[in-house]
Amino acid sequence: MGAPGVGKGTQAVRLAMILGAPHISTGDILREAVKGGTDLGRKVRSFLEAGKLVPDGLMGDLIQDRMSKDDAGAGFILDGFPRTLDQVHILDGVLENLGAVLDGAYILAAPEGEIVRRLTGRRICPGCNAVFHLDSRPPKAPGVCDECGSALVQRPDDTEAVIRDRLEVYEAQTRPVADAYRQRGQLVEIDGLGDPDEITARLENSLKESRAQ
Ligand code: AMP
Repeated sequence: MGAPGVGKGTQAVRLAMILGAPHISTGDILREAVKGGTDLGRKVRSFLEAGKLVPDGLMGDLIQDRMSKDDAGAGFILDGFPRTLDQVHILDGVLENLGAVLDGAYILAAPEGEIVRRLTGRRICPGCNAVFHLDSRPPKAPGVCDECGSALVQRPDDTEAVIRDRLEVYEAQTRPVADAYRQRGQLVEIDGLGDPDEITARLENSLKESRAQ
């Protein structure tokens, strides 16, 4: 968890690689659906473009489908879900059906000014989902993905006006999710400022500690 742009996608991909677990990003799944023009994509497009949350009913079906795939059987990193209290209950139900237990709910924190700076400079690759930043992780050739050569784009929800809306949505709807996990003693707060390698190390150490207990 964490505000938009705090680095949760970047860190979730790294943790998934380290742990050999699938990275399940609801944002990526929804963007793929929009790009592919599927039924789901048509239903969710306007929510994504406006930076609003997709209704919980649709999210419940999506997460249920994704987590019942074979690769999720031995564990997974969830990125961007749950984002509302109803989604916390949906996840509880899915985990129970799978006979799985949550290792922890990790939240990355960074000041708002830093988040706006990161998001407005973010560029993504529509070909392979790689993430770049104009200042802190520029591509080797301007506007071109280092990994697959596709032209980089700015997400339509990474413009300043939509970012402000997404931060408001986050405060109103996702903060209570963090509070719910805090009450359950499962929330782990991680400083999201600094070098991405350092942040990964913080997450990894904390995960090791919680698994050793
Ligand atoms: P993200 O890539 O995680 O920032 O998600 C991008 C957008 O996808 C969000 O602004 C929402 O419109 C939608 N989205 C992603 N995850 C969820 C979720 N768990 N619940 C509702 N909407 C979501």
